[in-house]
Amino acid sequence: MKKHKFLQSQVLCKFSVNTRCISCNTNQPVEELENFFINISLENKFCGNTVTTITQLLEAQKEWKSSNDECFMCESNVLEKSTTISSTSNTLIINLNPFIIKNDSFEKINLKVRDLANTPLTINKSIYVLQSGIFHKGRDLTNAHYYTLHKFHDIWYKLDDTSITESAWPRLSEDAHMLFYEKV
Ligand SMILES: [Zn+2]
Repeated sequence: MKKHKFLQSQVLCKFSVNTRCISCNTNQPVEELENFFINISLENKFCGNTVTTITQLLEAQKEWKSSNDECFMCESNVLEKSTTISSTSNTLIINLNPFIIKNDSFEKINLKVRDLANTPLTINKSIYVLQSGIFHKGRDLTNAHYYTLHKFHDIWYKLDDTSITESAWPRLSEDAHMLFYEKV
């Protein structure tokens, strides 16, 4: 239990969810949520040839998205939600969910993020640098191989089953699935 608490304190991320009613223009009570990682669902606009940045992906989380909750004022179900990160711990875990459901099956999205390994992230005035990444090699969830890249003394190493080799971070972060940042 103590160990679990320690892990929580290292990785827990807090979010504020703002909801507004489109019908009566009333702001709903702000919800405070927490999770072990930031989930980024990659949408079509970030796929294919679009080279984007990690900051753009995080900013997209703040965009207003439609919600079917019920307005406490007028009981309408036409609302919008926006999520912002309110606080983070020393380690920040980002899950780049590279799968979308298409024709009842999962399709992998081909994300391209430029220069991710050298781009620090700023969240609520804290600066984070990329330390590790988990990569997904394969077309879907079941037929895949996972490996890790980890930075040690400014050199990137690939941990792939039992082998550890020096290996640069992919230029456009192809196949990156989970990112681990450390506060500096
Ligand atoms: Zn309303």
